[in-house]
Amino acid sequence: MSRPDAAQEVALPICTSCRTPIILVEKGTKFLCPKCGVIVIWRCARCRKTGTNYRCPNCGFEGP
Ligand SMILES: [Zn+2]
Ligand SMILES: [Zn+2]
Repeated sequence: MSRPDAAQEVALPICTSCRTPIILVEKGTKFLCPKCGVIVIWRCARCRKTGTNYRCPNCGFEGP
């Protein structure tokens, strides 16, 4: 008996800039917030390319 929800057990990271789930093949990037160091910022390949700003939900730091 197969479980239809098994494939969704691994949650995709959400791009902090555009809120789009990052598909692993897109090679999104992640890094800790440079200000508070608590929040992991995710950026999808598109936002990296266009330089979309992100905003830390913890301390409100904004950066390119
Ligand atoms: Zn994005
Ligand atoms: Zn922060």
